[in-house]
Amino acid sequence: MAKENLVEVVNLKKYFNVGKNKVLKAVDDVSFNIKRGETLGLVGESGCGKTTCGRTILGLYDATDGHVYFDGKDVHAMGKKDKLNFKKDAQMIFQDPYASLDPRMTIGEIIGEGMDVHFNLSNKEREEKINELLHTVGLNQEHASRFPHELSGGQRQRIGIARALAVEPKFIVCDEPISALDVSIQAQIVNLLIKLQNEMGLAYLFISHDLSMVKHISDRVGVMYLGSIVELAPSANIYKKPLHPYTKALISAIPIPDPKIEDTRKRIKLEGEVPSPINPPAGCKFNKRCVYAMDKCSQITPELKELEKDHFVACHLY
Ligand code: SF4
Repeated sequence: MAKENLVEVVNLKKYFNVGKNKVLKAVDDVSFNIKRGETLGLVGESGCGKTTCGRTILGLYDATDGHVYFDGKDVHAMGKKDKLNFKKDAQMIFQDPYASLDPRMTIGEIIGEGMDVHFNLSNKEREEKINELLHTVGLNQEHASRFPHELSGGQRQRIGIARALAVEPKFIVCDEPISALDVSIQAQIVNLLIKLQNEMGLAYLFISHDLSMVKHISDRVGVMYLGSIVELAPSANIYKKPLHPYTKALISAIPIPDPKIEDTRKRIKLEGEVPSPINPPAGCKFNKRCVYAMDKCSQITPELKELEKDHFVACHLY
């Protein structure tokens, strides 16, 4: 494992048995890495396996096959002590800030819960740390005695972030952290995550179906389709020069703020629905929706190949 990689995902598979000998291949042979202090955006339509991938990386799901290494240690084969350290170092911020906070606990109790497991703090130190965290995420100490239902959606997501930060992690899986929020609040939360990353050197896996937000926060972007990565590249490359037909279609759907350019924007429309991951098409899983599909696309699965430095794509066109 390269030294600067904090997370390395190697041929990861997560399959679910869904009865009658059927298997749902939610994550199907996915490989990528995340460096210290880096943000990798993971995008794709809903149901493409992004969240399952994030949860399997965190060990919330057992892997069907493959490996996840964190700081060089295999997440799914850790002993008790390493597992406890990993639970501290790798956190998650959830999509729905309300559902992820226990309504019976005060904000102070929610933020302090993880600290009690991992640190041995006096009551005074604990209280000071909670107040400091509230301040860090743009709230104040009065919020510590309130309950989640007394806060707005944006404030609740700030609590979700403070809870993750409370255990001083190195890595956070941000699972659609802004999609349940008003547009006006979304940029605030993304900017807060960027600020915290700069201050603390955090690495993020930022999962989203919204490519415009992913662009703003990510150093590199991975595009997922039906459980597989179809393109992986530095953020600037993906947006300026997308190669995979699926990525091209997703990017063409992003509105452009300038009305003159927006009027002339050519949108590549995706035909049909995402096929079922229980019975995906043979060959390239995108072949039923791809305008460039050739005969071999329904027979041979394209491999993820490095076409330019750090720019990987899985498509028979290249
Ligand atoms: Fe389209 Fe074929 Fe490329 Fe798949 S492999 S994206 S079907 S051209």
